[in-house]
Amino acid sequence: MLLPQFRAEVLEANLELVRQKLVLYTFGNVSGIDREQRLVVIKPSGVPYESMKPEHLVVTDLDGKIVEGDLRPSSDLPTHLVLYRAFPEIGGVAHSHSEYATAWAQAHRPIPCFGTTHADHYHGSVPVTEPMSDEEIAEDYEVNTGHVIVRALQKTGGLHTAGILVASHGPFAWGKSAMKAAESAAVLEYIARIACFTLSINGSTAAIGRSLHDKHFLRKHGANAYYGQKKD
Ligand SMILES: [Zn+2]
Repeated sequence: MLLPQFRAEVLEANLELVRQKLVLYTFGNVSGIDREQRLVVIKPSGVPYESMKPEHLVVTDLDGKIVEGDLRPSSDLPTHLVLYRAFPEIGGVAHSHSEYATAWAQAHRPIPCFGTTHADHYHGSVPVTEPMSDEEIAEDYEVNTGHVIVRALQKTGGLHTAGILVASHGPFAWGKSAMKAAESAAVLEYIARIACFTLSINGSTAAIGRSLHDKHFLRKHGANAYYGQKKD
């Protein structure tokens, strides 16, 4: 079997969606990419999480051709592949229909940054894509879902976020690995949830000020980041 260790990691990342209560039944999917071998490992379509084994995961190339696997890959594979091709720095992609993030996606609203929890992870609002056109939906829907994400990120200045809301659909998140992508999906859901609570307490809450936002984001992600432990 190809990439046994990597398959196990991607399986764990998929199970993390379940542990973090981001998915219902077989909803959601996580993939990871081995950049050296240019191979993607993704959840199979429609297999219950509780019975999923490493050998059920599907290995494909960057064009979506199955390299190893008896099951069909998640139908969202083409979206993941567009993101891997557009952003060489990412190593994992996670998609869920987690409740609060999906609610914001359905409302076509970016999530404003109301506090430092959000600012630690996103430099600005959590963006939302443009709605997809009838043509984009009719043909190559999953590929075009990837394209609307890439367009939205380019418009907001590139990969400064670990996730996005696809309008009328739900969140996609990413990270340096499959597990990091699953964590990004959990953080995005948490941010979406507390933003809802914030607005329910005070519907005219203003977004966090620029200096506090920059302070929190840049101490973790900027050129002079100092949050956490030194990596040497
Ligand atoms: Zn979906």
